[in-house]
Amino acid sequence: MPSLAIRAARRDGLDYDAVPASLRGAAVEPGDARYAAVRSGYMRGGAPGLVLRPGDPAEVAEALAYARTQPVPLSVRSAGHGISGRSTNDGGIVVDVSRLNTIEVLDEAARLVRVGPGARWGQVAAALEPHGWAITSGDYGGVGVGGLATAGGIGFLGRRHGLTIDRLRAVELVLADGTPVRASDAENPDLFWAARGAGFTLGVATAFELEAAPVGNVGFAQLVFDAGDTAGFLQRWGAAVQASPRDVTSFLIMGRPRGGEVVAQTMTVIDSDDADTILARLQPFAGLGALVGQAVQIVPYAGVVSPQDPHQGQGEPVARSGLLEHLTPAFTADAARLIHSGETYFFQIRAMGGAIADVAPDATAFAHRSANFSVVAFGAGAQRLDRFWDPMREHFTGLYVSFETDRHPDRLREAFPPRTLDRLLEVKRRYDPENVFRDNFDLGPALVPVR
Ligand SMILES: Cc1cc2nc3c(=O)[nH]c(=O)nc-3n(C[C@H](O)[C@H](O)[C@H](O)COP(=O)(O)OP(=O)(O)OC[C@H]3O[C@@H](n4cnc5c(N)ncnc54)[C@H](O)[C@@H]3O)c2cc1C
Repeated sequence: MPSLAIRAARRDGLDYDAVPASLRGAAVEPGDARYAAVRSGYMRGGAPGLVLRPGDPAEVAEALAYARTQPVPLSVRSAGHGISGRSTNDGGIVVDVSRLNTIEVLDEAARLVRVGPGARWGQVAAALEPHGWAITSGDYGGVGVGGLATAGGIGFLGRRHGLTIDRLRAVELVLADGTPVRASDAENPDLFWAARGAGFTLGVATAFELEAAPVGNVGFAQLVFDAGDTAGFLQRWGAAVQASPRDVTSFLIMGRPRGGEVVAQTMTVIDSDDADTILARLQPFAGLGALVGQAVQIVPYAGVVSPQDPHQGQGEPVARSGLLEHLTPAFTADAARLIHSGETYFFQIRAMGGAIADVAPDATAFAHRSANFSVVAFGAGAQRLDRFWDPMREHFTGLYVSFETDRHPDRLREAFPPRTLDRLLEVKRRYDPENVFRDNFDLGPALVPVR
């Protein structure tokens, strides 16, 4: 029987006594000492009424069956690094699959690796390093496998090895009605298509099978430039990226101007351990502007995806995403205006293209394969950021759901072009007809009336 203090902290609307016995031991309520560690995500504050922490797919099914009887919000969480995803809530239930975090080599010759959604990409990189392998993931070791591998995965090996979803060979999910399903090219191929780009709306992923690539040590260059000539710098960096071979993937970050000065921090990974190749690849970047800092290392990929931080998110992040083919003079002029306004504290452009563009636009639910760049801007408030972001929309061909926080249906139409969206809605109606999974983006009736 829970203590009086625990009972007093309980939230209205939830029938705590009906929590299945198998889930009670690991479940966390607001009055529980473990609550502070699980209430919020990395970027978002939360106050859920109950965090269920299933330990296997059968328990995930039980958690979903219980959650569906409760008239409160439902969130799904793997590692809590969601920017778009609301993997926490206020007064609702979180189904947290962080305990499903194993990393296992299934087939050494085929480099086939089975990974739980609760594993983090830093752990995956570290586990694969002794094999001389890597799975293209993101730039940050704390990000969870579950959120990233269901949406895309734009990372430091992207131009050489594609999106994370491009390395996916099978995924296992528990559907809203509790049915466990496996999806691959051979099994439930419609679900497999949709799960690679929009898996967050279809079920709770409980395992991913991914083909790793042979990756040894890589070149990692952090070059910092004076970028006072912001538009010109962005154009030159964009041209250098597009002229580079696909073993080069570069990210660029600009923050608020300080004393009127703008600096650009670039992080470039060269998928080679050969010092001469690394230096040759960096030559075009070194000449982009006045260098104010530089560090070049040869490190394992695991050394590039930086370590994890505890979750202490507060409030709601405001982020805007856009994908585009070229950093044109018109785009870079608008981007410079945004950066110099001080309304974005974190503006990032990631190189795409290369292997990402080898995949046909209709092969997965991530259709924007012609984009060479992903742009994201974080701001303190939506209205203030959108004053500068809205005029930039005309430059974009689409957006990446994981970097967008605006839940307006138009954003989904930008993420999924018309034919992709039609096909996705059809799969959604088949696998989640009651729209149980809507905590991230809502692909329910508000988007397109049920036909
Ligand atoms: C610091 C930081 C760096 C990032 N870097 C990159 C990057 O380099 N490349 C990139 O592509 N993205 C990056 N992202 C975005 C990231 O991919 C997404 O936010 C992703 O959702 C995080 O995964 P998670 O499991 O940690 O998220 P969570 O917060 O646990 O989940 C986010 C959402 O994903 C869905 N979801 C989570 N788990 C499951 C599951 N098991 N089954 C079905 N749906 C699920 C849910 O809708 C949930 O609301 C970054 C985010 C942060 C905060």
